Amino acid sequence: MEQFDVIIIGAGAAGLFCAAQAGQRGRRVLLLDNGKKPGRKILMSGGGRCNFTNLYTEPAAYLSHNPHFCKSALARYTQWDFIDLVNRHGIAWHEKTLGQLFCDESAQQIVDLLLAECEKGKVTLRLRSEVLNVARDDSGYTLQLNGSTVQAEKLVIASGGLSMPGLGATPFGYKSRNSLA
Ligand SMILES: Cc1cc2nc3c(=O)[nH]c(=O)nc-3n(C[C@H](O)[C@H](O)[C@H](O)COP(=O)(O)OP(=O)(O)OC[C@H]3O[C@@H](n4cnc5c(N)ncnc54)[C@H](O)[C@@H]3O)c2cc1C
Repeated sequence: MEQFDVIIIGAGAAGLFCAAQAGQRGRRVLLLDNGKKPGRKILMSGGGRCNFTNLYTEPAAYLSHNPHFCKSALARYTQWDFIDLVNRHGIAWHEKTLGQLFCDESAQQIVDLLLAECEKGKVTLRLRSEVLNVARDDSGYTLQLNGSTVQAEKLVIASGGLSMPGLGATPFGYKSRNSLA
């Protein structure tokens, strides 16, 4: 059975970013997705140019049951950190209305940025991976995939919401919330 420190389910914006961060902090990361390509929703975002952040991002702009979460998250990583990352990858961008920032060329550049950051963190990306079962015990999580079994101390579910089912969206995250809590 293959062993990792962290397994992340879902290679969308959240899963790719999380995997890159964990990998670059020295964790052995397995990133799983049921689709053929990572970041498919990103490719559609912003009309194909990805509105990747907003100059005026602040906790008050978010609706949440837990407003403190946005405060703590944005205290640790801001829009300026992401703009800096985009600049380091040489991606040209422009501001539209109300502080919205878009790639000049294509949303593919943001997917490529996230994949390059994952590569820097030595993340193992496994596409077309269906999670058939998740079992939890004292040592962590054991996942039965189509064709293999993998184990990790930590599990991150970043399988996204239900918009655009044609792009691989599933209710996996909503269901797991109850069964794995
Ligand atoms: C048309 C459109 C335009 C948008 N434009 C913008 C924009 O310009 N700027 C912006 O910030 N946001 C935009 N959004 C919203 C943004 O795209 C999403 O909020 C974001 O992509 C969500 O990322 P995520 O990682 O949470 O989920 P997702 O991108 O949905 O990723 C989840 C991944 O998990 C995989 N998955 C699901 N279930 C399983 C399973 N059981 N096993 C394995 N893998 C699984 C899916 O295949 C998918 O790849 C737009 C959305 C749409 C639909």
